[in-house]
Amino acid sequence: MTEITTLDTDDYRSRDAAHHLHPFADYKALAREGARVIVRGEGSLLWDSDGNEILDGMAGLWCVNIGYGRKELVDTAARQMSELPYYNTFFGTTTPATTDLAAMLADLTPAGLEHAFFCNSGSEANDTIVRMVRYFWEVSGEPMRRVIISRENAYHGSTMVSASLGGMAAMHKQGGLPLPDFSHIRQPYYFGDGGNMSEAEFGLAAARALEERIQELGPERVAAFIAEPIQGAGGVIIPPDTYFPEIQRICRTYGILFIVDEVICGFGRTGKWFGSETFKLEPDMMTLAKGLSSGYVPISAVMVGERVARGLIDDKGEFAHGFTYSGHPVACAVALENLRILQDEGIVERVGSDTGPYLQSALRSLADHPLVGEARGIGMVGALELVRDKDGPVTFEPAGKAGDICRDHCLDNGLIMRATGDTMIISPPLIITRAEIDRLVNTARKALDLTLADVS
Ligand SMILES: *Cc1c(COP(=O)(O)O)cnc(C)c1O
Repeated sequence: MTEITTLDTDDYRSRDAAHHLHPFADYKALAREGARVIVRGEGSLLWDSDGNEILDGMAGLWCVNIGYGRKELVDTAARQMSELPYYNTFFGTTTPATTDLAAMLADLTPAGLEHAFFCNSGSEANDTIVRMVRYFWEVSGEPMRRVIISRENAYHGSTMVSASLGGMAAMHKQGGLPLPDFSHIRQPYYFGDGGNMSEAEFGLAAARALEERIQELGPERVAAFIAEPIQGAGGVIIPPDTYFPEIQRICRTYGILFIVDEVICGFGRTGKWFGSETFKLEPDMMTLAKGLSSGYVPISAVMVGERVARGLIDDKGEFAHGFTYSGHPVACAVALENLRILQDEGIVERVGSDTGPYLQSALRSLADHPLVGEARGIGMVGALELVRDKDGPVTFEPAGKAGDICRDHCLDNGLIMRATGDTMIISPPLIITRAEIDRLVNTARKALDLTLADVS
């Protein structure tokens, strides 16, 4: 058996610095500071190579919904690997695990989404959506419909296409993105952009930016609109109640497809199975990844509704798209077992009725802190806006320093929290206990106190 080398932290760091190019990393800073080496996980807890215990307030990257260390998933992978480690789903072939997962997802997702196309990551699923949407309009006799409208500061992945679909300025700055035929409207970020409007007015105004853009582009050119129910990486931005009903009205009026990226919100994050239930959305297509397998293996899916599916199925031609590992039997088997655990243990329902509300009230108790301009969230996801002055509120200039300081204080005190600019983010495993939530919020308060001392 291949043994993973066991070295001490300094050895790992020097080998890592010499050979490993990390995603989303400043290489010079990383080489100077050295990577953090995570060696083990159990429940909501992680351990690093120095033996420090860390509470994972981010569920990895928003994905380890059932928590670390679930033996059932390990056994399922081993069983499937012994039976059939791989076969492809090209050219009219399938495997039992692939079929079972497609049927299970059709059952779990909101009514009308009956078909699954499998990929290996959220980025690939969103690339697939772009190809599928354009193909759908071609076979529907409207090949001019190619433009997909998204939002500024949206995150839809990191390939050329999914980064174009997303609205991250830092990503667009590199390599000539976005590609043609992607268009971005303002985000529904009330805390940052609401000005003097009421929340309801702002929600409507942000949604109507979609209609204005459709008219600017020409409705006959617009293929689809895509949105995360809650913008995750953008800073846990929760739209006002008035936003999505208006968005849906506009999509229907112009006949454009409505795509919901559920990569973060899916599988219980908001206290229901899908963000689409929480926000009452009726998407034509849905992106799933992350919580689909709780991150234990890479897998993603595009859920396709009847309108698009009929277009593809009724067409006589071939949809010329797919991946070697689409519907990989091991990934599908592990995802199925993950979904069984979420279901059998009532994990989503517990987030909705018990631990979610408990986390939200604990998080809001931090709103009295002098650094916190707003505490918001829903279910098992939340954010704290750090501000220089709560009156106004006045944000920090330049943005991002206070957030980084706070994140480092969290980590020094055994908590992983993420900073997006000066927005502190949490998205813990859905199985986090009330006692662990207390620990999370107490550590966050301590980190806020230390940050306040640093920035004053
Ligand atoms: C993480 C994420 C993606 C991209 O998923 P990858 O598996 O990293 O490619 C897409 N959309 C959203 C909303 C995400 O959070």
